[in-house]
Amino acid sequence: MQYSIIGFPRIGLNRELKWATEKYFRNEIDRHALTNTAAVLRAGQWKVQQAAGNAFIPSNDYSLYDGMLDTAYMLSAIPERYEELHFDDIGTYFSMARGYQGRLGDVRACAMKKWFNTNYHYIVSELDDGMQIKLKSDAFLDGFRQASHLGIKTKPVIVGPFTFLKLARYTGNKTAAGFTEDIVNAYIDILKACNTNQVEWLQIDEPYLVMDLTDADTVFFKRLYTQILTEKGNVKVLLQTYFGDVRDCYGEICALPFDGIGLDFVEGKQTSGLIAKYGFPSDKILFAGLINGKNIWRSSYADVLKTLEDLKAINPQVVLSTSCSLLHVPYTVKQETKLSNGIKRHFAFAYEKLEEMQEICRLSDLPDYTKDPAFIANQELHQGTLRTDAEVRARTASLNEADFHREMPRKERQGIQHKRLQLPLLPTTTIGSFPQTAAVKSNRAKFRRGEISETEYRTNAKAFIKDCIALQEKIGLDVLVHGEFERNDMVEFFGENLTGYVFTDNAWVQSYGTRGLKPPIVFGDIKREKSITTDYIAYANSLTDKDVKGMLTGPVTILNWSFPREDISVQEMMNQIGLAIRDEVMELEKAGVRIIQIDEAAFREKLPLRRADWHKDYLDFAIKAFRLCSAKVKPETQIHTHMCYSEFEEIIPEIDAMDADVITFEASRSKLTILDSLKVNHFETETGPGVYDIHSPRIPDTAEIEHAIQEMLKRIPKQQLWINPDCGLKTRGEKETVASLTHLVEAAKNIRASLA
Ligand code: GLN
Ligand code: ZN
Repeated sequence: MQYSIIGFPRIGLNRELKWATEKYFRNEIDRHALTNTAAVLRAGQWKVQQAAGNAFIPSNDYSLYDGMLDTAYMLSAIPERYEELHFDDIGTYFSMARGYQGRLGDVRACAMKKWFNTNYHYIVSELDDGMQIKLKSDAFLDGFRQASHLGIKTKPVIVGPFTFLKLARYTGNKTAAGFTEDIVNAYIDILKACNTNQVEWLQIDEPYLVMDLTDADTVFFKRLYTQILTEKGNVKVLLQTYFGDVRDCYGEICALPFDGIGLDFVEGKQTSGLIAKYGFPSDKILFAGLINGKNIWRSSYADVLKTLEDLKAINPQVVLSTSCSLLHVPYTVKQETKLSNGIKRHFAFAYEKLEEMQEICRLSDLPDYTKDPAFIANQELHQGTLRTDAEVRARTASLNEADFHREMPRKERQGIQHKRLQLPLLPTTTIGSFPQTAAVKSNRAKFRRGEISETEYRTNAKAFIKDCIALQEKIGLDVLVHGEFERNDMVEFFGENLTGYVFTDNAWVQSYGTRGLKPPIVFGDIKREKSITTDYIAYANSLTDKDVKGMLTGPVTILNWSFPREDISVQEMMNQIGLAIRDEVMELEKAGVRIIQIDEAAFREKLPLRRADWHKDYLDFAIKAFRLCSAKVKPETQIHTHMCYSEFEEIIPEIDAMDADVITFEASRSKLTILDSLKVNHFETETGPGVYDIHSPRIPDTAEIEHAIQEMLKRIPKQQLWINPDCGLKTRGEKETVASLTHLVEAAKNIRASLA
């Protein structure tokens, strides 16, 4: 048995690529030093894979910034505004990623978008009518040639034409079809270059095949590849899919002359079913994506080996593979020194996944692997009870419908709340965080390093809260916040205060370009054993006659920004976290807090790629998990939520079904479309659509905010509209924050007066 991987992380074990790239951006090193660092890193990674017996080591999975950007560059899809800067190749490449502002002009960057259902962001290609797509050079084989010199055979990896064209943005009149001939020729040239360089296998990634496809899409895919594959020569072509199953085109891709097809068995719920039903062509190799490329747990050898046996019964030519590129997991567990071995032995990051795959291949070749110590140890690992808390399980098991419903319908509650809170029309508020000044950050850092006691730390945090309340009163906001000075991150803070979470020191995963994330890990059942926010919130409320919102992060967002467990369902995890947040909500209410905000910034993030799966696989229980947090409060307690980063138009009724009383959201790009959609859907939740963009230091003036409010009033009844910035203010400076909020309050007052 052999194994393959789809791609490897690229930031470097100690984020060497990040540090080098950032130095290059600051002009501290030149391009040679940067590309040299990259080449050394690559070589090191191939050697690790070679030592671990990987038969299909990928090359060109490496990137200085992003693989989709590499593809655009490779295909000469470079918008004119970057060419006009006349930079060298690397300069042009980075100007597309980051824009350019300087002596030569002011050129904006290409847009960035979430890569399917991951937290990785890719650069969106822009195709205009005048552009000619053609292969720029055979630089995509640089890695292959470098590896060959080292005596390592690799499988070059490129993004396929279908996915490239489907994800591109068309800025002129031409659409994907208009680029067919050009792109076919470019990929034919790619195959020719592979033949010249004696490439054995070329992996072409086509993740777009797991999306909902129309018949026209499938026809287009077939048309592209029927032409491209005629020039295959001696190169074997692996069609690689990931992030789901190919239910809309399985027959078509099997009929095309690919030499291998890579399918995802982890997220592809129908993959096994498709093969069982339609078989698998005997002239092709099946690359079976059984090792989860997106999560960090040890695989169950028993499950993987069983599936491999079933597959081999259908088609003997099976290669074990990952479900997607390992780009989405950190490098190695060996770098984690603080976690106990009892915890760590459950984890497999990229290096450990190589070891696992090597071991599974060895086991699969044995006459009876069930006797092998490695197999037995793996089975024992998966049978442990270390991660289960009986009390938590009993609580989630006893949940019933009443746990998800507030006692009074929203319309009636809203009347009671308005009477109680006595807020003016168009109430003003903010999203939660205030600028994280040097003093705020240094307080947290000192506490982390043990330089100050917890009492000192909390006393300092309270001093920041006091200033923040005074500031908001001075500005004249109606509903205040405590400022979130005790949090560096809205998920990490709650994770750290909940039993069941574990944190890593070095488990970085690329988010985009040089930016990384270090998601916390849901290790065991989640439980709230102590009060988390009440002390701060009650203190803030004691300082003012106005209401200060209790500020929490909701269960869907907490889970979506963590590495989830695989041994229990997403629904169970969300309910566990939901109950923990509910305990906090109830405590806040008891402490006299009359408005509680439960942030769901990442609510839409794990929405399934296929519409048919939206409800049953996600929304149905995500909505319930949110409702679970707030169902037990009194009708007069006002529940707020906040969302950002995404296009919500398509899930407006679902957001309403979360049954919050008020929602604030960020949607600077497509705000008016969303507002129209709210109107069409008779959205009932009171709404604060965000009157200015906090992602830039720009200060909006009063007239501009008034204009935004007027636009909103055309679509939202005045009794339902809130006035607020579009997200938290923690990344902003103090001065611009005060100025912007002052204008916001002034604008709200002016419009209020005009409505009276
Ligand atoms: N309450 C959080 C804040 O204001 C929300 C952050 C977010 O939406 N990303 O910072
Ligand atoms: Zn936000």
